[in-house]
Amino acid sequence: MKPSDKSKKDPFCEKENIRKQVYYETKYTYVLYNLYPVVKGHSLFIPKRHVTNINDLKLEEAVDMIKAIRYVVPRLLKFYHADGSYNLVAQIGPYSGRSQEHLHIHVVPRNKFDIYQDYNDKLYIDLRKFELNRLAMHEISPEIEKLRKVFKYKPHM
Ligand SMILES: [Zn+2]
Repeated sequence: MKPSDKSKKDPFCEKENIRKQVYYETKYTYVLYNLYPVVKGHSLFIPKRHVTNINDLKLEEAVDMIKAIRYVVPRLLKFYHADGSYNLVAQIGPYSGRSQEHLHIHVVPRNKFDIYQDYNDKLYIDLRKFELNRLAMHEISPEIEKLRKVFKYKPHM
């Protein structure tokens, strides 16, 4: 497969596609609302550059991503009343259950009333259900609009 063919199949490298999901960005990182949210606020942190592993990030990009996580997560949790709890999940490598090669870190806000309280492992199963759970853009757009206001988001792209 030619590199150009590969990038076509990678939704996180298609800037036009992800633009409508982005609600925060930094120099090297996009924060997207997940198209397959397992709970409200389920977001993804992705590097703007195509990499498949944390160790493929340049140090500057890795620091930028951690800074984005540290900035966004507390505000996201507050917005969704998540009471300081969240799951950070990354599936890296071909046997990890990943759905996309492009590095992406899930942030799942949690609270004591969410559907996973009695069955925490189900969260990881649901993260893999992906296409089945996919919502229509019009279903998640209101959440994205709310978060863009929270983060006073102005697209860089
Ligand atoms: Zn990519």
